[in-house]
Amino acid sequence: MSFRVGSGHDTHRLAEGRPLILGGVRVDYPKGLVGHSDADAVLHAVTDALLGAAGLGDIGDLYPDTDPRWKDADSTLFLTESLARLNQLGWWAVNLDVTVFAQEPKLGPVKAAIRAKLAELLGLSADAVNVKAKTGEQVGHIGRGEAIGCHAIVLIEKKEE
Ligand code: MG
Repeated sequence: MSFRVGSGHDTHRLAEGRPLILGGVRVDYPKGLVGHSDADAVLHAVTDALLGAAGLGDIGDLYPDTDPRWKDADSTLFLTESLARLNQLGWWAVNLDVTVFAQEPKLGPVKAAIRAKLAELLGLSADAVNVKAKTGEQVGHIGRGEAIGCHAIVLIEKKEE
């Protein structure tokens, strides 16, 4: 058995008139994240962590924001396609740990739903996925409520032939 670890980080700006989607879960809030795709910072960080663990580059290499195909795209597509690439190479996710940085909205009520969605997308049991929420302590772009960020770490394994 061999193991690799990968990390991913993403930040998107908050603005009125956009749906807020975090980890594939629609969150009730008057603002949403701005980006070429649905701007799901959680799924982007998790996808980058998976790609990083397998040495497959980053989400911008595979899904450039200059490509009209990814305009308003559902970011679950980026994650599931990237995971399929790993699986084809014999890699499988072991566990995932995610920290979401948001001053608002309070993520306590949606952490369990995000965890369940991430577990479903990665084919993991819920106890192999952890979602933590931090505020920005009212400083910086996150603390002022201008952006939401996410950091993800994933472990992957491959059974030796
Ligand atoms: Mg992004």
